[in-house]
Amino acid sequence: MKKDILYIVVPCFNEQEVLPITTPQLLEVLSLLCRENLIDEHSRILYVDDGSTDDTWELINRHCREHDQVCGVKLAGNVGHQNALVAGMTVARERADIIVTIDADLQDDVSVIGQMVERYRQGCDIVYGVRRERKSDTWFKRNTALAFYRLMQRLGVKSVYNHADYRLMSRRAVNQLLQYRERNLFLRGIVPLVGYRSEKVYYDRGERLAGESKYPLGKMMSFAVDGITSFSIKPVRMVLTLGVVFTLIALVMLAYVLVAYFGGRTVSGWSSLILSLWFIGGCVLIGLGIVGEYIGKIYIEVKDRPRYNIEQEVIH
Ligand code: UDP
Ligand code: MG
Repeated sequence: MKKDILYIVVPCFNEQEVLPITTPQLLEVLSLLCRENLIDEHSRILYVDDGSTDDTWELINRHCREHDQVCGVKLAGNVGHQNALVAGMTVARERADIIVTIDADLQDDVSVIGQMVERYRQGCDIVYGVRRERKSDTWFKRNTALAFYRLMQRLGVKSVYNHADYRLMSRRAVNQLLQYRERNLFLRGIVPLVGYRSEKVYYDRGERLAGESKYPLGKMMSFAVDGITSFSIKPVRMVLTLGVVFTLIALVMLAYVLVAYFGGRTVSGWSSLILSLWFIGGCVLIGLGIVGEYIGKIYIEVKDRPRYNIEQEVIH
């Protein structure tokens, strides 16, 4: 049976502390899978340097020289985790039969890559790595993440619970995925839309091996907002519902004002009117803000800019 070529795509943004630990672990996985005859020996680790400002690219270069199985791509600037993944997958699909994406900090257990490949050999096109528990994350990260998954589900976005961007995809699944040409990229939401046969493998999420999280609160929030507004128009519907409710309240208010007027008690109603004025004004602004979010997306989408520019490639 023909063996499949596996590419492990690893986005790196200022990961100089963790790369010296990551490379040997991933090489270990590759050689184990090779020995078990699960993958071809042309399988590779593909680092995508997402415009790092530290020595990440120098390190990647060194690892490329030292090991034939390591390749690297350097993006011309920081385009973000999701776009870096797309860059890596676009390069990898030219050569690979199967592509696994994993974070550079190896918080996701590399030993389940073997299970993923087995599932693929059983006919799955997409295999999701799902975290069993999040003990090692901080209380804050764990709970905000869970709240986010729940909110997404409520808003009707199809996404796999507790799955980040650790997954295996076959070449045809990646080809399909890359047909989704939107700029506001939220892979976790798009991959399930690809719709090929999929399965999950479970693992325990560990601690970041070294270095610091590249997702500070601000980035996390904008990621969450992207996830929701790229897939769901429910927020706009909520504004509409709110608008209808407010109009009804306004009618009731009108009746009240008329009664008060003919009863000669107009001055006393002033405070409640001024109160609703402010309240409604606030709601209108919130509504505008949400609508503006979508218009902003249309704006970016219409510009149709390239997602990244590759500056250099090291591919054996
Ligand atoms: N990353 C990236 N570009 C960015 C931010 C992050 O390529 O602008 C990469 C980072 O190097 C890592 C992965 O995305 O491989 C996930 O980041 P991190 O582990 O810091 O996120 P966390 O696990 O804390 O959510
Ligand atoms: Mg991490």
